[in-house]
This record gives sequence, structure tokens and C-alpha cells, in this order.
Amino acid sequence: MSVETQKETLGFQTEVKQLLHLMIHSLYSNKEIFLRELISNASDAVDKLRFEALAKPELLEGGADLKIRVSFDKDAKTVTLEDNGIGMNRDDVITHLGTIAKSGTADFMKNLSGDQKKDSHLIGQFGVGFYSAFIVADKVDVYSRRAGTPASEGVHWSSKGEGEFEVATIDKPERGTRIVLHLKAGEDEFADGWRLRNIIKKYSDHIALPIELPKDVAPAEGEEAPAAEWETVNRASALWTRPRTEVKDEEYQEFYKHIAHDFENPLAWSHNKVEGKLEYNSLLYVPGRAPFDLYQREAPRGLKLYVQRVFVMDQAESFLPLYLRFIKGVVDSNDLSLNVSREILQKDPIIDSMKTALTKRVLDMLEKLAKNEPEQYKGFWKNFGQVMKEGPAEDFANKEKIAGLLRFASTHGTDGEQIVGLADYLARAKEGQDKIYYLTGETYAQVKNSPHLEVFRKKGIEVLLLTDRIDEWLMSYLSEFDGKSFVDVARGDLDLGKLDSEEDKKAAEEVAKSKEGLVERLKTALGDSVAEVRVSHRLTDSPAILAIGEQDLGLQMRQILEASGQKVPDSKPIFEFNPSHPLIEKLDGEQSEERFGDLSHILFDQAALAAGESLKDPAAYVTRLNKLLVELSA
Ligand code: ADP
Repeated sequence: MSVETQKETLGFQTEVKQLLHLMIHSLYSNKEIFLRELISNASDAVDKLRFEALAKPELLEGGADLKIRVSFDKDAKTVTLEDNGIGMNRDDVITHLGTIAKSGTADFMKNLSGDQKKDSHLIGQFGVGFYSAFIVADKVDVYSRRAGTPASEGVHWSSKGEGEFEVATIDKPERGTRIVLHLKAGEDEFADGWRLRNIIKKYSDHIALPIELPKDVAPAEGEEAPAAEWETVNRASALWTRPRTEVKDEEYQEFYKHIAHDFENPLAWSHNKVEGKLEYNSLLYVPGRAPFDLYQREAPRGLKLYVQRVFVMDQAESFLPLYLRFIKGVVDSNDLSLNVSREILQKDPIIDSMKTALTKRVLDMLEKLAKNEPEQYKGFWKNFGQVMKEGPAEDFANKEKIAGLLRFASTHGTDGEQIVGLADYLARAKEGQDKIYYLTGETYAQVKNSPHLEVFRKKGIEVLLLTDRIDEWLMSYLSEFDGKSFVDVARGDLDLGKLDSEEDKKAAEEVAKSKEGLVERLKTALGDSVAEVRVSHRLTDSPAILAIGEQDLGLQMRQILEASGQKVPDSKPIFEFNPSHPLIEKLDGEQSEERFGDLSHILFDQAALAAGESLKDPAAYVTRLNKLLVELSA
């Protein structure tokens, strides 16, 4: 081994230490994935070199035979992976193999419970990458040199995975990275050609470059075996270029794990070859679950972009809208130039038409999933429903299609689960119902018992119950679905249209007329607190209700705006009372104006409470109520 200089010992970032600890204890049942993770990294490193070499061919240093080699030494109990990819310099090694760059990692780590079964799932979602080497090794040596730097700028990284690592400068004639795993006692089964070959076939067959194993004899450590003694064990062709019919489900699944850094299978995929004006291949996946950083602004998103089989960039964001940021995949274009940049991608009209087509592919894939695998779709909605709800605002052209994919809780006995699609809703609509009714609120418990639903319950009309924070905002972008408009049942003067018979309407008008006096008295009593007072025909059990003006902001939107520090225009509610409720009848007959005032204010405050609002003057409410209680018991 060559001379080591500038040796130093450094500590891992806290998160790495936590990850290492948890990983070793929770991934023990699936140890072999370490090889998949390291091969995945090596393949990425080769992809990067190939791309950089387009502009700087000298990076290839005369060796364009790109590959990954895996070897082993039974006696020394080592497994060695070697790639001739881009390599790392000293700084790269210190940052990449000593820290975790993903934002939100510290928070993520806090959520781990120490429960091994549960955590192994969580860690899988996080993606352990390089550090998985420590599942099977108690010491890992990494020898690397960044392509294009002198042989004397090689670096040796070494660690036992226990809190610190060493780095030293070495001579490394070949560019790229060699990783030597010193297997833990009891893990020497991996120092075996047959075993390694099987693992590679199982997990890494889809890797587009050759993965070689020594043919018969294992070379001694550090000694290169003659080329003739190596053989390629994987298929070594780009999976997305193969015809759909020839790719097995397992291959699609493993490929997904490689590009998505996910341990679990995807929910669905869509593989397409487009020919004609534009030519490209795309392979898009719906993940099985949400990544831990789905809501982090700076979290990576986008597709892996290839141009004529050459990897060009990760996280190409311009191919899909933001609300589909959870989609993973590859797009390989024949039309783009190899030196395309992110800036160009943002402006290129080719990208626009690809984006339109890819967006449609994803929506079609989701439609198919919803139709054919409703149970799976439920899972999808749990994970990504919130993000899909951003769709109608962002993607005007596909509004109707996205609306069809939305799922809501409803009065149709969903128990708060978001499982009702708009098409189901309309299929169940009453005769003559030409509206889609919904109610928004803070929690399911609150909306489910809202007095606003009384008339709907009586008439057996389904109402969608919307309790996600973004729902009211979402609904401001949805005006109709399948030609039927949406109606917020807490808003304006509820008109049930054909659902009310002529007799009902006539009767309601007569009642309203007979209560004109009461309306006036209430207006005087409630004064500034209300915008209007009117007779309600949506109540059966409750005495009164507060309706929101047609143009006013609802409670959710008000809270969102207030939380973001914006000034929200003060809007007054409409006080609607139930003329046949005994309390209202009592109120109507009340002679004392003072008592009439107290009672009206109590009814008003109760209606606000039932709508989930907080009272402006809770103390006054309590005083009035207690006054009445005292009178009652006197
Ligand atoms: P991830 O691959 O998810 O970024 P890893 O922990 O697996 O996370 O790797 C961290 C980083 O280390 C990689 O992003 C890459 O920059 C670098 N790296 C790992 N393996 C290699 C390799 N074989 N050649 C070059 N760089 C590598």
C-alpha cells in the first residue's frame, strides 16, 4: 500500500452516528441490500463521469471502458467494489461520507423510536446509501480519486463506523472509487462468488453498465486480475430502452429502488416510448409511500434526465408540475442537446410539450390505479392526497381530471376517511340534484355534527366534509365537476333548487313573512355583530346558525391568512334562525327587551361555537347564560 500523508481523524455528524447505530440494529434481516446500495452509488458515479467527459474528454484519462467490479477474498474476509467513475477528492469524501446532506434529517431522526421493525421501514424510506456498508462490515476502507486530478491526490477514508473516520492522502493511479468491506464475524458468507452473483442478479440486473465478477479465482487484495478473468454478470442495458413486454415486474421494482433510493416497491409505473415529432422514453413511478421530506421546500424532486442514453442530470424539475413532485422516474430524450442546462430546460418549448404529455401520463396512471386497485389508491391518497390537492390551482388545463382523482370524507358514512370521489358522489346524487354540496371545517367531529347539515340529513342528500387545512383554498379553484357546480352549504342563502318542492318553497315564504317582526327585533338586538338576520330553511334541530356571506372568507382561509401575518378583512356572519324551534318560539313571545337581548346573544354565540369559532367575548356569554340559569332555578 502506498504512503499515507496528511492523515487526520474526524468525527461523523451526529445524524450519521444515529443512522449508523439504528441501521445496524434494524436492517439485520435484509443485510444483502448493502451491495445494491453500493452498486447504485458506483453506477451514479460512472453516469456523472460520462456526462462530465462530454465537455472534458480528458477526464476519461484514456479509459472509457466504464464498469463496476466486485471481488472478494475468502481468507481475508473482504468484499471489494471498484468503479472507474467520477471519484472523490479529499473534501468530497469528508462531506459525502461524513455527513448527511438531506434537509430535515435531524427531525427525521427524532421520529425514530428505537422500535426495530418500525424503524427499519422508516430508514428504508430515508435511504441509507453508502452507510449500509456497515450492516455487514466492521471496517470500511474507501480509496478514491476524482477524475482529472493527479494520481498523488488520491484519498483513503477508513472507519469502523463507530463515531469517527480517518482520511489520508494517498497515491491512486486509477481514477474512481474502490471500497473494501472487512466483513464482520459471521458475515463471511458474502465473500463468495456464487452469493455475490445472486445478489447482483437479484437487485442490480437493471444497472446499465457492466458489473463484473472474477471468473474463477479471486485476485488477492489490491492486485488486479487479468481482464480475461472477469465476466459480466448483469444484463447491462438501460432498462427504459427495452420493450415493455420484455421487462419483468421485479426488474421495474428494483430499478425504482435504485433511482428513488427507496427500499420499498412502487405502487404503479408507466413506461412509454414516444416517437414522432418528439422522441423520448419515459418511465414514471408512483412511490408506495411519502418520503419524509415531501413538504420540505428544498427537498429534491424531479426526474432523472438522460439524453440519448447518457445521464445528464438528477432532479430535472421542469418535466412535471409541483403537485406531482412525488413522482420518480427517468426521461431519456433524443431531441435535447447533451449540454442542456437547468436554465435551458426552464425555457425550452420541447420541455413544455414533454411536460404536458408526462403530466397526462401520470394522471392517467393514477386514474387507472383508482379504477383497478381502489385499495391501493386509498393508500396513495393517504400519502399524497394533500399534495394532489395543490393540483387544481397549479394546473388549470387538467383541473377536471385532477378533480376526478380527489377523495373526500362525506356524510355517506365514511367515518372521516377520505374515500369518496366526485364521480361516486354524483352517481349517488338525488334526482334533480345538480350541485355538489360540501362543508369545510376544522375537524371531522365538528363538521359531522354541524347544524348546516340538518336539512341535508332530512332530505338524504350527501355532503362532502372537508377538514384539511388547504380544503377551502382548494375549493376556491374548483367551480364545477362534470358540469355540476360546487356549493358550500355554510355559505350564502342556501338554495336547494329542484330538491325543494314548490310547496316547500311556498311554505317557506309564508313562514318568512310571518316572522318579519322577529327578524327586525333580532337585528336591533344583535346590532353590529351580524350582517343580516333571516329565517332559515336549512335547520331542523338547531335553533340558529351562522352563514358566511357569498363573497366572504371562510374560517380556514381566515386562519391561514392570519397565521401568515396578513390583515384579514373583518366580515360579519348572517344569523339564520329556525322558526319552528321551541327556543325561537319562546324568544318571539318574550316581552322583556332585556331578556330578549340576552337570549339572542346567547343563540348567536352558540351558533358561533357550533361552527367551530371562538367567541369574541366569552365572558359575556358565560355571564348571560348564568343569569338565565339563576332565573330558571329561582
Ligand atoms: P446518496 O447516494 O443518497 O447521495 P450516499 O450516502 O449513498 O447517499 O452517498 C453519499 C454521496 O457520496 C453520494 O451522493 C456521492 O456524492 C458520494 N459517493 C458515494 N459513493 C460513491 C462512488 N462510488 N463514487 C463517487 N462518489 C460516491
